[in-house]
Amino acid sequence: KFITLEGIDGAGKSTQLAWIAELLQRAGKRVVVSREPGGTALGEQLRALLLDKSITMHAETETLLMFAARREHLDKVILPALAQDQWVLSDRFTDASFAYQSGGRGLNSAKLDILEQWVQGTLQPDLTLYFDVPADVGQQRVSRGGVVDRFEQEQADFFLRVRAAYLDRAQRFSDRIKIIDSNRSLPEVKAAVEQVLQSLLHH
Ligand code: C5P
Repeated sequence: KFITLEGIDGAGKSTQLAWIAELLQRAGKRVVVSREPGGTALGEQLRALLLDKSITMHAETETLLMFAARREHLDKVILPALAQDQWVLSDRFTDASFAYQSGGRGLNSAKLDILEQWVQGTLQPDLTLYFDVPADVGQQRVSRGGVVDRFEQEQADFFLRVRAAYLDRAQRFSDRIKIIDSNRSLPEVKAAVEQVLQSLLHH
């Protein structure tokens, strides 16, 4: 199975990722944990370029680099693992492109539809956990973390648009994307995630 985690910066994905991987392993699954942009040697180098605050780039350049990293990730990590019946847990995937590059940067989503079709065909995650927090809560959490990257330095309205795009997609693809209200205590968030995962584990 292919599971992806999504959310605006500061939504808490990375915290959830660690224990979700453990939960799946305890359930006897072989789990590959990865992330986007990244996950391969080339992808990690593209990630460094994409997050570098000293570099400016056109929204379409940013999008193409994200999909270039994704193409490698699919080829070298995701597809081989799925072919061996392993579970793939990825910190972000294509929904992030729709949220950030289309919602945030304003790129026409029809262009993303084309890239999505080109790079992944009909492949979609079996489940996407979207960790939802209000934009200002996410921004506060990020700023507490200290160093900010090229995306995290954006203004509040950017994150309002990114969140709105995520929520819009979650509604449109409600079979696949489950909204987890993450503006709650960690135990409450965990309980909500576990409930969603149970249905996938017992499928
Ligand atoms: O670790 P994290 O997933 O937060 O870092 C990746 C960064 O790249 C995020 O700041 C996110 O905003 C950005 N990103 C993006 N578009 C994607 C994937 C990630 O803007 N498609």
